Amino acid sequence: MSLNYVPDFSDPSLPTLEIGHPAIMNVRGEEVVIPEGLLEGGLRDLDALEGALLSEPPSRQTGLGLLRRIFSIVDRVGDRVASGMSCRSGCAACCRVMVATTRGESELLRDRIQKTPPPQRSGWNEAIRERNGLLEEISRRSDPPSDLTRLEGLIDTCESYERENRPCPFLGPDRMCQVYEDRPLLCRICWVLTDPKDCEPGEGPPVKFRTAVFQRAHELVGKISRHHFQDGRVSPIPYWFRDGNGIG
Ligand code: SF4
Ligand code: SF4
Repeated sequence: MSLNYVPDFSDPSLPTLEIGHPAIMNVRGEEVVIPEGLLEGGLRDLDALEGALLSEPPSRQTGLGLLRRIFSIVDRVGDRVASGMSCRSGCAACCRVMVATTRGESELLRDRIQKTPPPQRSGWNEAIRERNGLLEEISRRSDPPSDLTRLEGLIDTCESYERENRPCPFLGPDRMCQVYEDRPLLCRICWVLTDPKDCEPGEGPPVKFRTAVFQRAHELVGKISRHHFQDGRVSPIPYWFRDGNGIG
């Protein structure tokens, strides 16, 4: 099962980089060195952002702005470690797993869809409809049917869904993310140290690079959705757009 919902930051068998831990090893036997102060700076910026998150009155625009600020903090870490990771452009097995997102992240994607002209937008809509049809068919097979807007429902369906080998609706034919700037947090923090083939369905699991910065960002993204969007649910990416709501 590879539900990309909550990275298990507490799993002691997986490498977790903490402040003061200078380096870890990648699959090529190279040390991945973390620049001094990078993680401390990221955590400091996230702490400062949490103050703004809670002091602002709930607002969609504020929530979207805060999400973008969190993304830029985690990207700053990702950009500095990328060369030591196995992840490369066009390497996209990870885009076939069920990526769970919060309401706020889905609103960023909704804006992106709405701003994009056809035929790209129609292609996404068609792919979203197809993936939702499949998700619903799988959820109906459970007795009782799984609720895809709850963690337990997602876990029930994800193995069967991933066996169907359907890429994310936003993965292009060139295996590049077509909404890269607006992709959800879990797509941004999915950095892998082991062989990319471990990310293929049925293989692995891959060993992911984890840091307290990613963990903290993950907590804050959830808080933003609860405070600014009054919605604490998580859902697979396409399922936020079921019924064609807002994407015509
Ligand atoms: S997470 Fe795995 S499949 Fe995705 S880019 Fe990294 S190595 Fe490739
Ligand atoms: S949003 Fe982009 S990076 Fe994330 S799963 Fe979809 S195609 Fe992949």
